[in-house]
Amino acid sequence: MMSLRLPSIDGLLRHPACLPLAERHGRESLLAGLRQLLDELRSAVLSGQLSAVEISPEVLAGRVGERLARQQRSNVRRVFNLTGTVLHTNLGRALLPDEAIEAVHMAARYPLNLEFDLASGKRGDRDDLIAGLIRELTGAEAVTVVNNNAAAVLLTLNSLGARKEGIISRGELIEIGGAFRIPDIMARAGVRLHEVGTTNRTHARDYETAISPRSGLIMRVHASNYSIEGFTARVPTAELAELAHRHGLPLLEDLGSGSLLDLTRWGLPAEPTVRQALLDGADIVTFSGDKLLGGPQAGLIVGRKELIAKIKKNPLKRALRVDKLTLAALEAVLGLYRDPDRLAERLPSLRLLTRPQADIFAQASRLQPALADVLGETWSVSAVHALGMIGSGSQPVARLPSAALCLRPQVSKRLRGRCLLTLEAALRALPIPVLGRIDDDALWLDLRQLDDEPAWLAQLPHLQVDS
Ligand SMILES: *Cc1c(COP(=O)(O)O)cnc(C)c1O
Repeated sequence: MMSLRLPSIDGLLRHPACLPLAERHGRESLLAGLRQLLDELRSAVLSGQLSAVEISPEVLAGRVGERLARQQRSNVRRVFNLTGTVLHTNLGRALLPDEAIEAVHMAARYPLNLEFDLASGKRGDRDDLIAGLIRELTGAEAVTVVNNNAAAVLLTLNSLGARKEGIISRGELIEIGGAFRIPDIMARAGVRLHEVGTTNRTHARDYETAISPRSGLIMRVHASNYSIEGFTARVPTAELAELAHRHGLPLLEDLGSGSLLDLTRWGLPAEPTVRQALLDGADIVTFSGDKLLGGPQAGLIVGRKELIAKIKKNPLKRALRVDKLTLAALEAVLGLYRDPDRLAERLPSLRLLTRPQADIFAQASRLQPALADVLGETWSVSAVHALGMIGSGSQPVARLPSAALCLRPQVSKRLRGRCLLTLEAALRALPIPVLGRIDDDALWLDLRQLDDEPAWLAQLPHLQVDS
C-alpha cells in the first residue's frame, strides 16, 4: 500500500479553503497554525493511521480554522449568572446602567478634565469630579475615592493610625473573600491591633478600658458575610462615637456594602446607610462602589474634612487612586441616586434585586418546555420557587424569594453526582457560558438575572449532554 503524503504548506496557503482564514486571522497566524497541525499529524500519516480525507486541504483548513478562532477568542467572556447570587464577586458584581456605560465610552474615547480645573485653567483634583455628588447624597463634609474598599480601609488606617493602636471588637475581626482579613490589613497599615470584648459580646466599658496614650483610633467593621445571633451585645455607633470623641480619637466605620438609601423602601432587607453612620458620629466611613451602590469597582472614603485632607496627603493615595473610566462611571451612577423614585428602573443591580418573584416564576414556566426538550428523558425539568441572595457580604442570612429551573437527573442515586457535574460542565461550555448551582441532588438555574432571554434560548441547541 502506498503511504499518503501531507499536502505542502505552500499548497495549503494557496488553497481556496484556506484563503478566507488568511483574510480573517492574518497570513502569519495561518502559517503558524498550519505548521503546527502538520507537525502533529506527520507521524500518524507515516504509520498509515490517517485516511486521505483526514488530510485533505478542506479538512485541514477546517481544523486550523477552529484552532485560530479559539485562540482569538477573548479571555474576558460574558456569562449568564444564574447562581442566584446577584452581586457575585467572582462574576464581576454590579452591572452598570446605560448612563455609566456611555460615560465610560466618552472617557475612553476623548481627552477629559480628569485633573484640570476648567474654570481657573489650573491643575485640578480628580476627587473633585464626584465630591459634590457624594457630599449631597451622604451628608459628608469631604470625600476621596480609591481603587476598592480594601484599599479605602488600608489607606484610612495607615493615614490615621500608623504606629498607634487601633481598637476593635473581637466580633469584627472578619475575613472577606479569602485575602482580605481585618487583622492582616491593620498590620500592613502599620496599626497595632488592640482587640476588645468577645466574639459575641462587646460593651462600651471594653473599649473604654482599652484606651491609652498609645491609642490612635477606634474601628468598627460591618460583619458582612457572617452573622452573630443569640446572646450578643454591640455598642451602637452613636454611643461608640461619643466615647471615641470624649478621648479625642476618631471613629472609623467600614460599612462594606454601605447603601446610600434605605433599601426597605423597596422591600429589601435593611442595610446601614452611609448617611446614618455619619449622623451617628462616625468620623470616617468606607464602602464599596460595586456592591449595593451598583457602580464600578471603587472604594469611597467619606467623612470629616481635616481627616480626609490627611488621607489625601498620604503617598499611598497615589498608588491606590482610581482611573478615569471608573470616575466617569461612578459619577453617572451617583447621578441616578438624585431621583430615587426611578432608581429601581434605571440601576440594574437594584432592578434585579427588586424583580418580583411572580415575574421570575412566569419566566421559568415559559422557558421550561424548551430546556426539557433539549435535555430529553434523562432529566426532569421543573419551574420552582427558590431562594437567592444579595451577595458581596450584604445581608448574608437574608434570602431573596426567587424562581428557578430545577434540573434533576432521572438516574440511580449512585450516578446522580456525576450526571450533575456533566450537565454543569456542558452549560459552562456554551458560547455564552451558563452558570447555575448544584444543591440537593439538582442543578438550579435561578432566573432572577436572566434578562437576555433570546440569547439564552438561541444557544440551547448547542447544549451537548450525552445521556
Ligand atoms: C466587601 C468588603 C470589603 C472589601 O471591599 P472591596 O470593594 O471588595 O475591596 C471590606 N470591608 C467590608 C466590611 C466588606 O464587606
